Amino acid sequence: MSQGSVALAKVEKLIDFVWGLNKRIELLEEKERLCASPQKGDTTEAKVVKVTTIHEYTEFVRELFAKKNEAADGFMHAAAGNSGEAGEIMDMIKKHWVYGKPIDREKLIEEMGDQLWYFFALMQLVETDLWAVIDANVKKLRKRYPQGYTDTAAIARRDTMGARP
Ligand SMILES: [Mg+2]
Repeated sequence: MSQGSVALAKVEKLIDFVWGLNKRIELLEEKERLCASPQKGDTTEAKVVKVTTIHEYTEFVRELFAKKNEAADGFMHAAAGNSGEAGEIMDMIKKHWVYGKPIDREKLIEEMGDQLWYFFALMQLVETDLWAVIDANVKKLRKRYPQGYTDTAAIARRDTMGARP
């Protein structure tokens, strides 16, 4: 066998090796993709898809927040997350306001959802629910704006009189 033939055989062997390696990488990527995709009957996906009530969403957040819902760690996680998401929303509005960048409605809704998730996590930490929060807010604002919104009422903050220093 000539030197040229030996070299060619080596190159062919190398090509086979690389081809086999590429094929293996493709198969591994396909396996990873399939494992990451929700499969039929996947309970996690089913729960997300079927969230249609506040109660279901509350349980959805509770399950995801389970690892970080203790004491100070949980409060910091929820509060920092809430502020962080508010910042993301503010940044989108800033880019619209200052640069004239169109608001990406889908992205804005995504960020609102992120913030809502942290809001629900915080509610769970203080052991309250959405209706209790809404009720407190409505009571406060009805007291503040008994005749509807006015700048004068906003400045007077009637609901805080005598309640806070
Ligand atoms: Mg976000």
